[in-house]
Amino acid sequence: MASGQEDKMMSPSVWHPRDATEAWTFKKLLDADAIYVAGGTLLRTQWEAGIATMPKHLIDLSSIPGLKGIVKEEHSITIGALTPLGDCRKDPHVIRHYPMLADAIRSIAASSVRNLATVGGNIASRVGDSLPVFIVSQAEFEWNTGLSPMTEDASQWAERLQEQLPKASHLLTRVHLPIIEETELVPKRFGAFHKVGRREAFTQSLVTVAISGGIKADGKLAEIRIAAGGGQTIPHRLPAAEKLLKGQIPNRELLGEVHQAVMNGYRPKSDPFATDEYRKKAAANLIVMELWKACGEPSGAGREQDGVK
Ligand SMILES: Cc1cc2nc3c(=O)[nH]c(=O)nc-3n(C[C@H](O)[C@H](O)[C@H](O)COP(=O)(O)OP(=O)(O)OC[C@H]3O[C@@H](n4cnc5c(N)ncnc54)[C@H](O)[C@@H]3O)c2cc1C
Repeated sequence: MASGQEDKMMSPSVWHPRDATEAWTFKKLLDADAIYVAGGTLLRTQWEAGIATMPKHLIDLSSIPGLKGIVKEEHSITIGALTPLGDCRKDPHVIRHYPMLADAIRSIAASSVRNLATVGGNIASRVGDSLPVFIVSQAEFEWNTGLSPMTEDASQWAERLQEQLPKASHLLTRVHLPIIEETELVPKRFGAFHKVGRREAFTQSLVTVAISGGIKADGKLAEIRIAAGGGQTIPHRLPAAEKLLKGQIPNRELLGEVHQAVMNGYRPKSDPFATDEYRKKAAANLIVMELWKACGEPSGAGREQDGVK
């Protein structure tokens, strides 16, 4: 057991910045010796499991004013990065305009964790279960980069992460979700999130999928966005499946092709809990099921495939 003296030497310094730019400045100066802490739920698990080492300095984001809460504007909903997942899940604007975000958050941990864990921490972890929803919702992430705020499309951000780590000093401050209303041209909108874990609730994800889109008056699909993640997979879009659906009225044959495109395009990161094949099939089945639900039973004999029989 470590002595009191050793404990003291190992205890990190905790900094309480007064605003986002001060937090960014601390991080810039202390560099790899410091880390941002929001709710601390993920970090604590990583430290306890020995996956990450406790740095010399912790930058506590919780004291920064103005980064917590949800505001509805005329055409968007803005979520402060420090908003607890539990608050976001219960927010009336989120429930009304983004029920799939509420569904995704409900699938994360348990309410005791969700009351501490933040939206920003879930996103910045790069594998948070809420991420596919932000990716398909055309969300914009606003970062404090020391100078002027930088805003980036969630889907582009996630795409960039496939190749390079994000700048550790960039501080997520807000998430902007557009409010996309139904119009005469696109009278029906749909969106859904699914998580597959090893049990029904309070479980890590094996697969997460999100889909959003619209159906035009003539039944043709518009603005389809599909993303898949889960486990340690950084969620990503499935452009080939999206392209197949663009401007189409789904029939059995098309859904079979989409199923195959999801299987081919989804790149799950392997772990001992499930095979890649299982994850791909689960993702493809869920996407096709949601399309089926949104558009009604597809017509046409088409060829038979897993999940599209
Ligand atoms: C029992 C348990 C179950 C869990 N189950 C799930 C689950 O089912 N699904 C899931 O997705 N997660 C799960 N988690 C992980 C975690 O709770 C969530 O990812 C949570 O949203 C992280 O938020 P946080 O505020 O606690 O982040 P923290 O732990 O404080 O930080 C997480 C990471 O994000 C960085 N960070 C935090 N805020 C910012 C910011 N504003 N800008 C830049 N970087 C930032 C930190 O430096 C750190 O690298 C679980 C955790 C526990 C303990």
